[in-house]
Amino acid sequence: MTAITVDIINKSYPAAGQACLHRAIADLKLSLPSNEFICLVGPSGCGKTTLLNIIAGLDRDYSGEITVEQQHKAPKIGYVFQNPRLLPWRTVRENITLTLPSDYDPKTVDALLETMQLTQAQHVYPERLSLGMSRRVSIIRAFAVDPDVLLMDEPFVSLDAPTARQVRELLIGLWQQRPHTVLFVTHDLREAIALADRLIFLSSPPMQALSEIRVDIPRNIRDDETAIEAFRQKLLQDHPEIRALL
Ligand code: ADP
Ligand code: MG
Repeated sequence: MTAITVDIINKSYPAAGQACLHRAIADLKLSLPSNEFICLVGPSGCGKTTLLNIIAGLDRDYSGEITVEQQHKAPKIGYVFQNPRLLPWRTVRENITLTLPSDYDPKTVDALLETMQLTQAQHVYPERLSLGMSRRVSIIRAFAVDPDVLLMDEPFVSLDAPTARQVRELLIGLWQQRPHTVLFVTHDLREAIALADRLIFLSSPPMQALSEIRVDIPRNIRDDETAIEAFRQKLLQDHPEIRALL
């Protein structure tokens, strides 16, 4: 089943200091299957955040159409921003429950905290959290709404390598327990290969989809750096068009 259909004819921004427009996205068509972990890979400035904002409905200033397959009256979108954006005056648990309907099941929140190893920290305030913990809270907050689609914008970019690896493993554990369609943006090809069912490579502006590749490495060996590196080497060999993006 298709979870999201993207057909963006044009998205432009005013170009800084000029009367003309900067064309960020042109004729981008994507058809994204349900319950897959999809990584969007593209260079900095190619329009990844712009695309997520359009899919999330935060940016409506474009021509084209986005369709999100939904189980609810209106599509529910979970969005993990590049910056965790936690409210400093609310505890971890309050940050998670704030956007949930009043009849939410506290046991679901308990289970999410447990999976992300945050049960002990649920009553502390964000200033006491490490960056890795804050990222985990923002992931729980997005999963807790049981979204039709989960958007993640380079959420691990400023984490050190061991912490990023730990949070990646926790994220995949959570996603395997609760399958969702995930659109995860990154410019790190190794990270994308470690996480994705499907990679979509995006070009520099105006953004277009250059290649779509399935990652067939079994989930139980995704922590094996040799397997990830072998896949990466073969990918770059078979798809030279990708090299210019990285
Ligand atoms: P990415 O997330 O891939 O790094 P963005 O979506 O943030 O890229 O930006 C894509 C392009 O659009 C860049 O050239 C950026 O400078 C431009 N852009 C993004 N947001 C704005 C804005 N609010 N006003 C003007 N230009 C913007
Ligand atoms: Mg961005």
